[in-house]
Amino acid sequence: MRRKKFFNSDTFCVIPFVGLNVLSAGNISYCCFSEEQLIDNDEGLTITNSTLTKAWNSDSMRDIRMKMINGEEHEGCAACIKQEEWNPDGGPRIYATDEWFGKIGRRQMINLFKTAKSNDGYLSKTSPMYLDLRLGNLCNIKCRMCNPWNSSQIDKENEILFNQDEEYKEVWLDEFGYPADGLNEKQKWFEADLLWNDIINFIPNLQKVYFTGGEPTLIKNNYRFLQECLDQGRKDIVPFFNTNCTNQNKTFYNIITQFDKVDINASLDGVEKMNDYIRFPAKWKAVSKNFESFAAFENVHLGVSPCFQIYNIFNIVDIMKYVEKIKEKYNRDIHIDWLPNTHPIILRVDILPLEIRLKAYNEIKEYYESLDETKLNHITVQSTKKILSLLIEEKGHDIDKLRQFVNYTKSLDRFRKQNFQDSCPRLYEEINNFYPHILSNDKE
Ligand code: SF4
Repeated sequence: MRRKKFFNSDTFCVIPFVGLNVLSAGNISYCCFSEEQLIDNDEGLTITNSTLTKAWNSDSMRDIRMKMINGEEHEGCAACIKQEEWNPDGGPRIYATDEWFGKIGRRQMINLFKTAKSNDGYLSKTSPMYLDLRLGNLCNIKCRMCNPWNSSQIDKENEILFNQDEEYKEVWLDEFGYPADGLNEKQKWFEADLLWNDIINFIPNLQKVYFTGGEPTLIKNNYRFLQECLDQGRKDIVPFFNTNCTNQNKTFYNIITQFDKVDINASLDGVEKMNDYIRFPAKWKAVSKNFESFAAFENVHLGVSPCFQIYNIFNIVDIMKYVEKIKEKYNRDIHIDWLPNTHPIILRVDILPLEIRLKAYNEIKEYYESLDETKLNHITVQSTKKILSLLIEEKGHDIDKLRQFVNYTKSLDRFRKQNFQDSCPRLYEEINNFYPHILSNDKE
């Protein structure tokens, strides 16, 4: 394993040595898999009280780097490292470290490690090579597993439901503990020149920039930044977009085709009716058309990153079939990176009884085994194995959370004029067979 071989540390992960992360509520973090806010002089860093330059060598960044250098696990990485239990060869830190080995080479990686080691974690003479930018919650859709911090549409809906629907409010408070207030004002933070001057100053050293949101194709400053990269002659920087495929437009197409390589991960959580139910009010017809436009661009490296959650547990095979169809049609590699939902907890698949999960497991496994594994992208292979093991983890299910799931679903259905039974007939039937009283809201 490269971590042990080159860094003499089992806990080394490249991310805190190359990148910074801005979260959609304005906090600065070191990694999207952690989302732990950075601290300097006992103060949590945000884009209003700090700069990214200061955050780069903040107390937290140096502490995390030194822990990794000394072979200690950083507590903020615990959830990410847990993924290695399901998939010892493919957790995020393994992927990330391998990716950066490929990008900057062994010598530069070892240099970063040694420089930080001999300077108490400081990397003063270099700036980030990687930025993960979630610049606000501006979004045009409201996916069921999302939240107000990442979608302005959910923010609006949540304000109404929180104040009008007692069942929704109860579920919300149990999940998050407090109301989501004041997000509108925070969005102005992302326009601040201080943030943008910092980001633009990093361009000469940048290798890759990840944009998500909100929906990154709606955020005007993302275009400003990309144009600035091109103006500085850096068409070799790899922009990486996580997009909902609802808002492709000429400006976006125009700008991305000027870069040497662009990574696009499409958030597709289901096909047809399932897409329209989970990702309201997106329409599958438009989403699939836009997805195919990306498949036709030669400089685009295309992937799909579905949120693996309770709603789509019986539609995983449909997504896989769709991706296989587009791969064949455009004769290109497209990977699937399943993202297991961790929050809200009420949408995690492990709240379902094992018997229901086993049915989904068997269907996915049967289809997966019908494919030629040697022709699948390694990300698809690893992440499909990950969701398969997740499905059969023998944890007891959680009937209280399942009840909350049903209440939350009914609240959203009433407000959006959608119908769980029509949109997820298979899941409805399975839950109904198991716990009919939950769906009818009767007491046991
Ligand atoms: S170990 Fe995981 S959470 Fe920690 S920095 Fe690496 S990728 Fe991020």
